[in-house]
Amino acid sequence: MIEERIIKTRESAELIDVTADVQAAIGKSGVKNGICVVYVPHTTVGLIINEAEPGFHSDLLRVLNQLVPEKGTYRHPDGNSHAHIKASLLGSSQYLLVRDGRVVLGTWQAIFLCEFDGPRSRKVFVTVLEG
Ligand code: ZN
Repeated sequence: MIEERIIKTRESAELIDVTADVQAAIGKSGVKNGICVVYVPHTTVGLIINEAEPGFHSDLLRVLNQLVPEKGTYRHPDGNSHAHIKASLLGSSQYLLVRDGRVVLGTWQAIFLCEFDGPRSRKVFVTVLEG
């Protein structure tokens, strides 16, 4: 079973905590122990597991902007090459462990959808495999 969640982003660039969405999908699956795959089917969105503290989010977006500025000598005609590149750097999926029906995360970890070309309606797919 593949669970689909819709996330509406509000900013051109932002991180949105989807941990509760992933946990809800795990609960719905009924799987107690196994592997959870989280995937975003978008070319200008990244998916990361990292620190929940908002200062870090600001730092990450700022550093990515320094590495990949919005305006540059890009060839992609849509004007959003910077967003594609940032999403490529972060990747579009994550594997997580599931133990006792709960996603396994460290104390400071959470799962974030990283919007780089918003605001838009985004999808997050989650599947859970018993094992
Ligand atoms: Zn594009």
